[in-house]
Amino acid sequence: MKRTFTIAAFCLISMSAFAQQFVIRGTKDERTEPMKPTMSEFYYPKIAKVTPGDQATSAAPSDAIVLFDGKDLSMWQSSRGGEAKWTVNPDGTMTVNKDFKNGGGDIMTKDTFRDFQLHIEWCVPENITGSGQARGNSGVYLQNKYELQVLDSYDNDTYVNGQAGAFYKQSAPLVNPCRKPGEWNVYDIIYQAPTFKEDGTYRTYPFVTVIFNGVIVQNHTMLVGTTEYIGFPTVEPHGDGPILLQCHGDRSEPISYRNIWIRNL
Ligand code: MG
Repeated sequence: MKRTFTIAAFCLISMSAFAQQFVIRGTKDERTEPMKPTMSEFYYPKIAKVTPGDQATSAAPSDAIVLFDGKDLSMWQSSRGGEAKWTVNPDGTMTVNKDFKNGGGDIMTKDTFRDFQLHIEWCVPENITGSGQARGNSGVYLQNKYELQVLDSYDNDTYVNGQAGAFYKQSAPLVNPCRKPGEWNVYDIIYQAPTFKEDGTYRTYPFVTVIFNGVIVQNHTMLVGTTEYIGFPTVEPHGDGPILLQCHGDRSEPISYRNIWIRNL
C-alpha cells in the first residue's frame, strides 16, 4: 500500500514538473514558468469572421459558395456533359427534368469539393402520385459517390434505409421529420471526405452529419462505401468530387430544389 502511494506521488510530482516546463507556441505568454492563465489561451491562427445569414430564410452566410440562387444554373452541368437543362422557375426554384431524350437527367456542380457544409432545400409537389421509391425520388450525391436520399417520406412506406434522410441502403435516418408534399424540406449536411491507403482501401472513412428540417437524422455517421442499388457498398479511391442531384427514372411528378449553398471546411 505504502509502495503504491509512493509511486502515485512520484507520478504526480513528475507530471507537475512536466507541466511547468511545457511551452505552448502561439500563446500570448511563451515563458515556461510560472504557470499562468495565458499559457492555455490560444491567439493564432485567427478565426475568420463570417456574417451569419438570416436563419428564418436560411440565406447563405458571407463565406458560402452559392450553388443556386434562384436565377440560373451557371454553377451546374449535366452529369453526361454539357449544359444543365433543369427548369428554372420564376419563383426562384428549379425543377428536375426527367426528359432524358432532351437533355434531362442528373446534374452536378462544375466545382468539386472535399470537406464541406452544404445547405439544400427540396419540395415534393403537392399533387405527387406513386408510392414507395417511385414517389418524388431524387437524391443528393456527396462527392458524386454517396447518396443522401430525397423522397416523399411524409406518409409513404418503403425500406427505412431508402427513405428521406437515409444514406441510401446504408444508414437509415434516426427519425423522420419529413414535411408533407407541397412544403419545403431542408437538409444541412456536414461532410468529412475519406482518405485512402496506397492499396485503395479507406485510411479514414467518410463521415457525415445531416440535419433535416432542424433535426439530426445522421449523427457523425460513418459511410463504408459508395451507394449501390444492388449489392453492398464498394470502396473506390477518389479525390474531391462534385455535388450531384439525381434525376430518378420513376414516373412520379418531378420535385424542385431551391437555395443551395456550400462552405468549404
Ligand atoms: Mg434517390
